[in-house]
Amino acid sequence: MSTEQHLKELAVLNGCPGHEDEVAEYVEGVLREVCDDVGRDVLGNVFGVKGEGDTRIMVAAHMDRIGLMVKGITDEGYLRIAPLGGVPAVSLVSQRVVIHVKGKTIHGVIGVPPPHLSKKEKKLPEVKALLVDIGATSRDEVVEMGVEVGTPIGYAPHFTHLGENRVAAVGMDNRAGVAAMLDMAERYEGRATVYFVATVQEEVGLIGARTSAFRVDPDCALVIDATHGTMPGVEEQDVPVKLGEGVAIGVGPFLNPALARKSVELAREREIKYQIEPNPSRTGTDTDVILTTRTGVATALYSVPVRYMHSPVEVVDLRDLRATADLGVAFLDSF
Ligand SMILES: [Zn+2]
Repeated sequence: MSTEQHLKELAVLNGCPGHEDEVAEYVEGVLREVCDDVGRDVLGNVFGVKGEGDTRIMVAAHMDRIGLMVKGITDEGYLRIAPLGGVPAVSLVSQRVVIHVKGKTIHGVIGVPPPHLSKKEKKLPEVKALLVDIGATSRDEVVEMGVEVGTPIGYAPHFTHLGENRVAAVGMDNRAGVAAMLDMAERYEGRATVYFVATVQEEVGLIGARTSAFRVDPDCALVIDATHGTMPGVEEQDVPVKLGEGVAIGVGPFLNPALARKSVELAREREIKYQIEPNPSRTGTDTDVILTTRTGVATALYSVPVRYMHSPVEVVDLRDLRATADLGVAFLDSF
């Protein structure tokens, strides 16, 4: 399947941090077709091993996406919420959300008072002040529906084509990376032993990468994630990466310079569109913990540019996604 087809399948699956099962099942299904060995660990990380060379390479892409959890239930049957990861309040206002319990989907909305009734001050409410309306009229009714404190909530999924090459959807951070990794696993035929790892709980502290890198104990690693692409309202100097300009190859103190250089050379050789992403400090991705695993792991970071990150309308350019998978395959083939 192509990267885009994987993305389309992955985009509609739920997967709040700690609740990645739906994505894990999909990833396992794909990896089982092409890998020699597939498994899941106690935290939920999915591993697929392909190849039999002495060099061990770990490819990591996180499966979770930001979301919410039920923090409380009001007497009137509204849900109080807490963010799972970096959820901006502005992105929650007037959104549709979904809750999955007991094999069924419960729909909800996060409404705010209309302008006619709201006071003069136009301050944005805090996340903790927002309530989810699931159509219940009492706490008992909520409980009967199977919703309880701790139940995860996600933005209502969609997959919306924008023009010829772009898509707006929920959780492109990091389903774009997972899609590229699956495409790589399907195409890889090289000599090294590659561990394709779909990690859990990146958005709440890079948890799955930490434990899976310890287990794999790789010689080097390639992390595939999303990064900010230029968007209206943001200075270009703050966000140098652009949508449609190709895979973003990370450079900076956390990233191995030889692997970054090799990546640039491969991109030039194979005429894959790329751009350089400066990461002057922490990358905020699984990279940050993989590189300090055991005695240290040389790590490269490829990112898919994403606009409006952590909102329900994250935008990607499908050509960047293809470039990411193409360079990933070239990277693995080079060992
Ligand atoms: Zn991410």
